[in-house]
Order: sequence, then structure tokens, then C-alpha cells
Amino acid sequence: MSALRDLYQQVILDHNRNPKNFRVMQDATRSIEGYNPLCGDHYTVYVRMEGDVIADVSFTGAGCAISKASASVMSSVLKGKTLAEAEGMFQDFHGLVTGVPSSEDGMERLGKLAAFAGVSEFPARVKCASLPWHTLHAVLDGKSRPITTE
Ligand code: ZN
Repeated sequence: MSALRDLYQQVILDHNRNPKNFRVMQDATRSIEGYNPLCGDHYTVYVRMEGDVIADVSFTGAGCAISKASASVMSSVLKGKTLAEAEGMFQDFHGLVTGVPSSEDGMERLGKLAAFAGVSEFPARVKCASLPWHTLHAVLDGKSRPITTE
């Protein structure tokens, strides 16, 4: 288990150091800001929709390693997904970090996101890991006001 945990930590460290899709998206169809006041995490998530498909996802902002890595992994796994698929992954990820994984299938679909399983043991970090997802969820729901985890 500890080797697995080290591997997971490596994924988080790598994404924190070299975040994917960390940029302003000029042709975004939607964007929204998300805050986690408890930790000070603050991001803007950008999405470009093509019909029902998430053609592109990016983010900017700052926060702790967990939140930044989570936003980075999220942005890389959601590209090309439909809204329904994204909703499923949101539910799977939420289950993972709150310690109630949805199903074996869900775990498999999560892939790299499984790196965040350890977060469920640290309640204070759950909001860090889930902030990018809650922000994305609000974007896909068509909301435009900033969201907060509190
Ligand atoms: Zn944080």
C-alpha cells in the first residue's frame, strides 16, 4: 500500500509542478471562478463546448498542491467527454475523495484521478481536491457567479 501511496503522491506532485491546461482560454464559451476560503484556493475554470461535447478545458489561479493537481488532472481527463460523461466522472470523483467510491466501474473510469483516493483520509483537503470539480460543475450548469466551497 505504501508504494501505491508514493505513486499517488508522485502524480499529485508532478501535476502541481507542471500543471496541464494552465492558461486563459481566449475562445472559452463559458468560465467561472471558484474559491475555497478555508485553504485560500482560487481558480477560474474555462470550458469550450461544441454541442454536447467538452472540446477544451483550462484553468488559471493559485492554491495548494492538491487543488492545483486536481484541476490539472481534471482538465486532462475531461477533454472530449460529453456532458453526461463529465457528470458521471464528477460523481465518481466526489465518491472517491469523500471515501465512498461509487463502484468498481467508477474506479476504473477514474484512471489517474484515483491518485486522489488518499485525500479522503484528510477531511480538510477534500475541499481542495473537489474545488475544481465543483467549479466545473457550476460552469456546465450554466452558472456565472463565482462559487465557494463554504
Ligand atoms: Zn487547498
